[in-house]
Amino acid sequence: MKVTKYIFVTGGVTSSLGKGIISSSLAKLLQGRGFSVTIQKLDPYINIDPGTLNPYEHGECYVTEDGAETDLDLGHYERFSNEPTSQANNITTGRIYQNVISKERKGEYLGTTVQVVPHITDEIKHRIQILGQSGKYDFVVTEIGGTVGDIESFPFVEAIRQMRWELGRNCVVIHLTLVPYLAAAGELKTKPTQHSVKKLLEQGVQPDIIICRTEKHLNHSVRTKIAQFCNVEPSSVMQSIDAKSIYDVPVLMLEEKLDVEILRKTNTPIPNKIDIKDWEQFLMHLHNPTAEITVALVGKYVELKDAYKSIHEAFIHGGVANKCKVHVKPIHSEQIDAQNIAEIFEGIDGVLVAPGFGNRGIEGKITAIEYARKNEIPFFGICLGMQCAVIEFARNVLGFKDAHSTEMNAKTKHPVIHLMGEQKKIKEKGGTMRLGAYPCKLDKNSIAFKQYSEVMISERHRHRFEFNNDYRDQYVKNGMKTTGINPTKDLVEIIEIEKHPWFVGVQFHPEYKSTVACPHPLFIGFVRAMLDYTSSKK
Ligand code: GLN
Repeated sequence: MKVTKYIFVTGGVTSSLGKGIISSSLAKLLQGRGFSVTIQKLDPYINIDPGTLNPYEHGECYVTEDGAETDLDLGHYERFSNEPTSQANNITTGRIYQNVISKERKGEYLGTTVQVVPHITDEIKHRIQILGQSGKYDFVVTEIGGTVGDIESFPFVEAIRQMRWELGRNCVVIHLTLVPYLAAAGELKTKPTQHSVKKLLEQGVQPDIIICRTEKHLNHSVRTKIAQFCNVEPSSVMQSIDAKSIYDVPVLMLEEKLDVEILRKTNTPIPNKIDIKDWEQFLMHLHNPTAEITVALVGKYVELKDAYKSIHEAFIHGGVANKCKVHVKPIHSEQIDAQNIAEIFEGIDGVLVAPGFGNRGIEGKITAIEYARKNEIPFFGICLGMQCAVIEFARNVLGFKDAHSTEMNAKTKHPVIHLMGEQKKIKEKGGTMRLGAYPCKLDKNSIAFKQYSEVMISERHRHRFEFNNDYRDQYVKNGMKTTGINPTKDLVEIIEIEKHPWFVGVQFHPEYKSTVACPHPLFIGFVRAMLDYTSSKK
């Protein structure tokens, strides 16, 4: 049984400093030295999970293999470490309280007053240690959402204080702060970092390593000053300088010796070699593309990059696999109509219609798909994007003018997309969609099979509506093939148009499974198809 070591990553001064990327980069470096690592995120909000949050609030909701609706940072964890995460990797205050309150109702605390300390903090510690107790990991990296000093994060910081005390050298606290550059003074300022560390100290936590997010290099004197005022060794003050890409961060943190410092502090023998050759190879192609293409990303949250985070990243991976830079042109579906579509799509090499919910912007998506279908532009529809392709085909090829999904029009005469049987009785919104990994059987004569090179695949889902099998024969007869089927429930998971060079719609979310080590086959294929399309135009 391994002795698991725990690394906490807290943040100070502001949010959005990149704790998720630092945690993922650290995991990548430790893996490169031969250690097994998992990363967990603790979110201080009261929702049980982010599944019920609007993308404007919280960006993308990332779905794990076991069907947990989680924070988008888990996507980074998987993309960097190539290790699947699960429900245990994302815990919110809401879930902690729900567990404690349900134990109280069962009588598990009979006779005692249930309090934040020790009951809530014990539950937090338990949730952190569950991953370590699996015996699978040398290191558990736990990222604490929010910023120290937030009222919400107090119980989490208290849990860290206790674990730090109980585990001694088997526990390290990294504090990520901002060191702003004041142009007028021509100086990097350390005071916000000092204040932020004081905030942590007020709660009894002395950070072991301070990582400073900065636009400019931290010189020796800035590092020494932070070390002196914040009670850490100078070698434990590191910079996290703005990078061209998030994928550069592991290499930058290797230069700062973050991995070595963690191993030294946890008394772990330091392997003298690190193997991140594949990563370096990826970076080499990322920064030296031999071709460029532009894909239109049609959705209703396009102004918010985080809403389609995994799609953006999957294009980077699929692009690198083709030695190609993919420019993603966000297009708001509400702005599209039959008159302006040709102008909007001028110069694009492919169209991706994004996942989503509800009626807003739906007609623009359908118009975009009609244009891509008729003009033989490579098309990729994901979840709602696939459903819109099915609706478009019904309206314009099968001639069912009012065809729709019952999500948007419950009274349509042609409900080509309808609610799944198992969804009909469900009333509660949280965690009740068809979620997580399901198997899918591919038709050997399909683009999908060409990309996956296997008949049985498994992909992650997040939806309530599905292709209506009553219409299947009419689709197939008219040239839309159903090339991926769930073998147990006979659900249509993939559609393709026979007479189109690359027209693929998937009911699942391939973007969640794309990683640096394993770019997703459909994204690789879609980028390839866009490259072919561009060269055919020349
Ligand atoms: N709104 C659609 C459904 O629930 C699609 C969901 C999605 O795109 N994730 O089936």
